[in-house]
Amino acid sequence: MTLKDKTTVTFYNGLTTIGGPMIEVAYNDSHILFDLGEVYRPELKLSMEDEDFETLIKYQLIGEVPNFYDPKITGKEIDKDRWKHAAAYISHLHLDHSKALNLLAPEIPLYTGKITAQLLPALNEDGDFLLPAAGHDKGYTREIIAAEYKKPIQVGDITMEVWPSDHDAYGATGLIVKTPDKTIAYTGDIRLHGYHPDWVHDFLKAAKHCDMFIIEGTGVSWPEEKHDDNSEEFTGPKNEVELTEQIVKLEKENPKRQITFNTYPTNVERLLRIISDSPRKVVLHAKRAHLLKDSLDQNYPYYYLPEEKRFNDLNPELEVSYQKLLDDDHEYLWQAVKNYDDLKEGGLYIHSNAEPLGDFDPAYKPFVEKFAQKKIEFEALRCSGHADEEELKEIISEVEPAILIPVHTLHPELEENPYGERILPKRGQTIVL
Ligand SMILES: [Zn+2]
Repeated sequence: MTLKDKTTVTFYNGLTTIGGPMIEVAYNDSHILFDLGEVYRPELKLSMEDEDFETLIKYQLIGEVPNFYDPKITGKEIDKDRWKHAAAYISHLHLDHSKALNLLAPEIPLYTGKITAQLLPALNEDGDFLLPAAGHDKGYTREIIAAEYKKPIQVGDITMEVWPSDHDAYGATGLIVKTPDKTIAYTGDIRLHGYHPDWVHDFLKAAKHCDMFIIEGTGVSWPEEKHDDNSEEFTGPKNEVELTEQIVKLEKENPKRQITFNTYPTNVERLLRIISDSPRKVVLHAKRAHLLKDSLDQNYPYYYLPEEKRFNDLNPELEVSYQKLLDDDHEYLWQAVKNYDDLKEGGLYIHSNAEPLGDFDPAYKPFVEKFAQKKIEFEALRCSGHADEEELKEIISEVEPAILIPVHTLHPELEENPYGERILPKRGQTIVL
């Protein structure tokens, strides 16, 4: 057997950073790549315009992956004699897993779960979500194929199966890759305390005893915070269901008070749960209502701020006037996105993993203080998208992999494999299975 006939796995990026994993599985003349994100490094203060290919490579924001990127971007041709079959996959729509997808050569098919495929073009409508594709206008999103869950996708000698999973990105999935002699599973971002732990368990069951299990490890990135009882991890909701319950409780406890909220755009499922469970009528900012209409064809009540651009796909009958919301103290729970000075004194604002996300963002503290000045109660209701240390152990125990590869974490060495080997690859390293 020559080396060519063995399964190889190469780790191009996202090993000791939170986000940006780029991993290639190859067998013979077939190969696949997952994911296509960009590592988030706000301290570099790069604008989208600054992020040309050289800059992305220089700061290790993406991997230096040969034979996948668009030659118009890299200046290097793809070796099509060597590679007869190629495909790519992204696990979910967070930017650290998706932002670079337009850099993929146009002829290489890109697969993802259905919801991710529907949401990404809508999120990138203004060209401010994904990196641009060569030779296209801003706002262009390359073709993304919505994979049928669990159905094998043939890429030469390799098959891929996309499994529904759970994370704080709507439609998140995991991947099972089979070559003629090996099975590799990749978690993408994962947790057991979301809406669908049952889906996660099914995925892990399908991955059981795989030859290589590539797992994210965000939850073990800050070991120094682990036993700090004052940290926010210990006070907030324990899971997504509890989070929605707490919002409902706040509404019930405050029958005559202005209540506003905000969430992160890609956490669509949390928003849908809030809408369905809220005793008050939920009104979204028009931009968010448009995102749900455009991607999922769902209609929800919405409002415009003064002088805002109108969306012609929104049903005019569902519009609520901004003034009506400002005057309200009992009928609506509405999404506040700016103009906080307009809000009622004595009101309540629920910040549920919306932007600014937290203390690490310099914009967070002044944002919180603004509400205090206005005498508006600021309630941060968070729930993590990532498995914590205990959940990670449980996930690994359900799979019992021959080889464990922790990625997407500041401390890969803190994830252990009691069932076999653990390898901590270096950036760019190839492992032959
Ligand atoms: Zn994510």
